[in-house]
Amino acid sequence: MIQRVRGTRDFTPAEMGGRRQVEDLLRSIAREYGYREIQTPVIENAELFIAKSGPAVLEEMYSFEDRGGRQLALRPELTAPVVRFYLSDMSNYPMPLKLWCVSNCFRYEEPQAGRYREFFQFDVEIIGSGAPEADAELLMLASDLCRRLGLKEVSFRIGHVGIVREMLDAAHVPREEQSGFLHLIDKRRYGDAENFLAGRRIDADAARGILQTCAKHGDSSILNGMRGASVDYLREVVSLAESQGTGRLNIDLGVVRGLDYYTGVVFEIDAPELGAEKQICGGGSYSLAPLFGGKEIASTGMAFGFDRLILAMQRAGTLRGEEPLDLFVLAASETLRPDAIRIAGSARGKGITAEFDLMRRSMSKALKYASTRGARFTVIVGEKEKASESVVLRDMVTGGQDIIPVRVVTDEIAQRLRAGRG
Ligand code: AMP
Repeated sequence: MIQRVRGTRDFTPAEMGGRRQVEDLLRSIAREYGYREIQTPVIENAELFIAKSGPAVLEEMYSFEDRGGRQLALRPELTAPVVRFYLSDMSNYPMPLKLWCVSNCFRYEEPQAGRYREFFQFDVEIIGSGAPEADAELLMLASDLCRRLGLKEVSFRIGHVGIVREMLDAAHVPREEQSGFLHLIDKRRYGDAENFLAGRRIDADAARGILQTCAKHGDSSILNGMRGASVDYLREVVSLAESQGTGRLNIDLGVVRGLDYYTGVVFEIDAPELGAEKQICGGGSYSLAPLFGGKEIASTGMAFGFDRLILAMQRAGTLRGEEPLDLFVLAASETLRPDAIRIAGSARGKGITAEFDLMRRSMSKALKYASTRGARFTVIVGEKEKASESVVLRDMVTGGQDIIPVRVVTDEIAQRLRAGRG
C-alpha cells in the first residue's frame, strides 16, 4: 500500500469536527476584532523566504524547480506571503490593514509530537501601525483566544529587541553582527553569547550588563530603573494590554526571536502542558516590506500553531468530535424511495443534516447503520403510513416512535432538535 508522506497527517471526520470547532472560534474572534480574512497560494517563489530569513531557511524548506525552471517553495510560514500580497495588491487599502488566515505550512523538520512537516498556522497581521496599541491588541486577541479555547495554563513572554540592540549599539557591536548574538540569546545559549561578546573585545562591564539584561524576566517591575525609548514602549504595551484584561503578562528580555527583521516588541506564548513543543504562538513587530522591494511600513503580527492549540485542547478535554447527524430517512419498500428522498431534501432546506439510505438495505440493516452513524432521528416511510400521508418518526436516543403527518415531520424534527439543544 502506498503510504502518506512522513510528517503529514490525514484527519478523520471526528478529528475534523474538533479542528473546525477551533477554526470557527478563531474566525469569530478575528472578525470581532475587525480582522479581514485572506488566502495566499501554497507555493511561492523560494526567493521570498530566502529574502526574509536568509539562505539557511533552505535547509528546512520544501523547495524545487518547476518545469519552467523557476525556483519555488512550499510556504514554511505565512507572514512573508501576507506582506508580499500587501505590497502587490493591497498597499492602497486604508490603514491599518488587519488581516488573518489559517493555512497549511511546510517545514522539513524531524517529526515528533506537536511538530510536523505539514502543519497549520493561524496568522494575524497588522500592517500600517507602529503604535503600542497595535502590539497590545495582538496580546489582547491572543489572550481572548486562549481563554475561549479553555487553555488555562498559558504563559506569555514579552520582550523588545530594541532594548538589547541599543545596548549592543552602545558597545559598538555592528548591526550586521548583532543578529548572531540575538540568535544565541533566542536559543538560550548564554555561554556562547558570553563568548561572542568576549570575542569582540566588549568592555567586561558592558558585556555583563548586556547578559544580565537578557536574563531579566518577571512582571513589569523588572523594567524599574531602566530607561530608553524601547523600555518605555514595552512598558506601555504591557500596561495597556493588562489593563484590558489579559491577566498578568510576563516580561522576558531574553525573548528576541533572533532574526534581523524583528524591530520592536516580540513575544512567545507557551502551553506548558504540551512538553517539549510547548510554544503555541510567536509574534512581534517587523520590517519586511523593504526586503521584498517595497517601502518601509510599520507592521506587527503573530502566528499560532493551530495543531498545538488542538493538542492542548485535547489534553484539556474540551475538543469536540464530529457533529452528529440529525436525521436518517429510509423507505420500507422500493416504490417509497422517492418519498424518502423528498423528506431528506425538505429537512436539509431547514438546516437539518439528513441522509437517505444509498445502499438499498433492508430496514433492520439501514436502522443499524443509522444508529452507528449516530443519527439523532430516523424517519421511516412505510406503505401503511403513506396511505394516511404520515411517516414514522423515531427518536434514536429514547427509542420512542410517533406517527407524524408528512407535511409537518421536518418542522417537528427541527423543533425537537432546537429543544434538545436548549
Ligand atoms: P514560527 O513561524 O516558527 O514563529 O512558528 C509559529 C508557531 O507555529 C509556533 O509557535 C508553533 O506553535 C507553530 N509551529 C512551527 N513549526 C511547527 C511544526 N513543524 N509543527 C507544528 N507547529 C509548528
